[in-house]
Amino acid sequence: MKVTDVNMETYRWPRAKPIRNGRYVYPTAGLNVVKVETDEGVTGVGLAGGVQGAEEIGASVLDHLKQYAIGQDPFDTERIWDDMWQPKLIGRRGITTRVISGIDIALWDLKGRALGLPVYKLLGGFADKVPVYIAGGYYEEGKGLNDLAAEMEESVAMGATAVKMKIGGAPINEDVERVRVVREAMGPDVKLMVDANCAYRHYQAIEIARKMEPYDVFWFEEPVNPDDYKGHQLVSQSTIIPIATGENEYTRYGFRELIEGRCCDILQPDGLIMGGVTEFMKVAAMAQAHDLHVAPHGNQEVHVQLVSAIPNGLTVEYYRGSTDPMWGRMFQHTLEVKDGHVSPPDRPGFGIELNEEALAPHRVS
Ligand SMILES: [Mg+2]
Repeated sequence: MKVTDVNMETYRWPRAKPIRNGRYVYPTAGLNVVKVETDEGVTGVGLAGGVQGAEEIGASVLDHLKQYAIGQDPFDTERIWDDMWQPKLIGRRGITTRVISGIDIALWDLKGRALGLPVYKLLGGFADKVPVYIAGGYYEEGKGLNDLAAEMEESVAMGATAVKMKIGGAPINEDVERVRVVREAMGPDVKLMVDANCAYRHYQAIEIARKMEPYDVFWFEEPVNPDDYKGHQLVSQSTIIPIATGENEYTRYGFRELIEGRCCDILQPDGLIMGGVTEFMKVAAMAQAHDLHVAPHGNQEVHVQLVSAIPNGLTVEYYRGSTDPMWGRMFQHTLEVKDGHVSPPDRPGFGIELNEEALAPHRVS
């Protein structure tokens, strides 16, 4: 089998109200789809990390990189990855790595479709259901403490036993109050994660960490900038709350820094950003050698397969309709939360079937 073409489709749609985290405002949501075609009629479908606002750069990178896949056997994912990743010429992080991720994920999907196996089985299945948590708790215009608590309770009613909320977008004492209200609304048995999206300097992160300690926070995510490895270490050593990070880290080399520096307790690689399935599995193995847990960032349809394939997977992040108006409509199948768990579908590849009809009006490139 040979790869004959590689293309990217970008979709974007508005949210009813922009959502905000500690650092950024998101008026829209979207999807970047990479499709790899072959001479045997099997097509692999991959998802790439967001290139919103830089679609032309993403398209140029894809145009450049496709030469390393076209004409190749799609099963040779190690070689294709190695050929695509040219640190000297087009960059070691950022859009380059996001586009490589999309191509690599599409190749793994293709391998699964060609063999009739889900990706987690190809990778060496470990579990057929894995713990999940529901992410949300964003800041929104007019959203008060009661609305926040109600949203978290809704997530629990959906079957979640763990939920995540944003911090870092309000003064420290106000955020501590938000955390207190959510903890009280949910009771002691639901795990609560908080995510600052790099909003703090290390001393601010230490202050809020200590103030949140009475509320049994399961992890404190992205306290400081992704390049502030020393800051991560200082925060980590200053609180009993485990530190999680990695959604803005790239490749095995970036994760090596986090691991060797003991910058965090939980690693959060995003396969759509840091280098695809091929690179994710290397990071998961490095983490395993250091007895670290992996809890990937976002993109439940892809990550449910990867967490189900590793022994040190902690949990899958899950987004629902509260954060994405196309949730339940962009794909033919929607991953369901049951008793705090999700299961990888037994469809071939990632089991992602786009709902082309629902997506078509939102295509931007
Ligand atoms: Mg995050």
